[in-house]
Amino acid sequence: MQTTKIGWIGLGIMGKPMCSQLINAGYNVAVYNRSKDKEVTLTAMGATAAPTPAALIQQTDVVFIMVTDDNAIHQLFDGEDGLLSANTSGRLIINMSTVSPGISRHYAQLCSNSGNSYLDAPVSGSQKQAEDAQLVIMVGGDTTAFNTAKPMLENIGKMVTHTGGSGTGNTAKLSINTLLAIQAQGLAEAVSFAAQNGIDPQQLLTLINNSALASTFIKIKGDALINKNYKPAFALKNIVKDLKLAEDEGMASPLGTASLNSFKEASVEYGDDDIIAIYKLL
Ligand code: NAP
Repeated sequence: MQTTKIGWIGLGIMGKPMCSQLINAGYNVAVYNRSKDKEVTLTAMGATAAPTPAALIQQTDVVFIMVTDDNAIHQLFDGEDGLLSANTSGRLIINMSTVSPGISRHYAQLCSNSGNSYLDAPVSGSQKQAEDAQLVIMVGGDTTAFNTAKPMLENIGKMVTHTGGSGTGNTAKLSINTLLAIQAQGLAEAVSFAAQNGIDPQQLLTLINNSALASTFIKIKGDALINKNYKPAFALKNIVKDLKLAEDEGMASPLGTASLNSFKEASVEYGDDDIIAIYKLL
């Protein structure tokens, strides 16, 4: 049994399997999710449930967060019964959500002022990689906190890399997701073009998967396209969020901007579908 007490906030598509890895690794885990029904799987595995973020941080040493966006982070820190209302010190908060570099710098400073530490530690990989503990984790923040976090994060990912000061993990993640958006749209456009010109999409995907362009992402999303499976592993509305964050950080490149516009348009109807539902817009 590990002695560090862990708190986990956010049990969605990604948070649930990521938190499960820490329970399986022998940590004592307390969970908090805004919608209580999502806590059930984790409490059945042995976690306890905390009624509020404040109660969670009071009873734990390290708090992980995996929620949607900047707005959720503000509510979790500053809301009534939020993390900052607990007046703790000596805690480490590891924010694994894809959020803005600015919000990480803001809360890293507030945590430091109260004797706590904060790391931004977003992940590359989706539901399957979270379930297999194969995520790639990029971490911004101070070196001492990184060294404390690394052995815990190694239960969740196959690679844990320190990218620099606060917010740099988020910046690296936004760069990766700009590429992700371009690749998803590119794949959808290639399949659409082939289908319109009499090429069997499955045959096209077999060709791509055996070419130098083959990748885990193209394999998984290609299969989803063939099966018309748009159940969200990564919700399309969340890539719009990420591309907007990248734009706020100065991303104004031809393909990045084009992808933002396409995904924005697609999100009106397909926001809750998977990212590859961009195909339905073509
Ligand atoms: P999700 O399934 O939609 O889960 C979102 C989580 O955030 C839920 O626990 C939700 O609580 C919570 N939340 C949202 N707004 C909140 C608020 N205002 N206050 C408190 N909690 C709030 O999303 P996900 O796919 O797990 O993504 C989580 C993060 O990981 C996002 O930043 C996403 O961009 C990033 N990410 C996702 C993937 C992927 O493939 N899915 C991959 C890499 C990174 P409720 O249950 O109450 O709604």
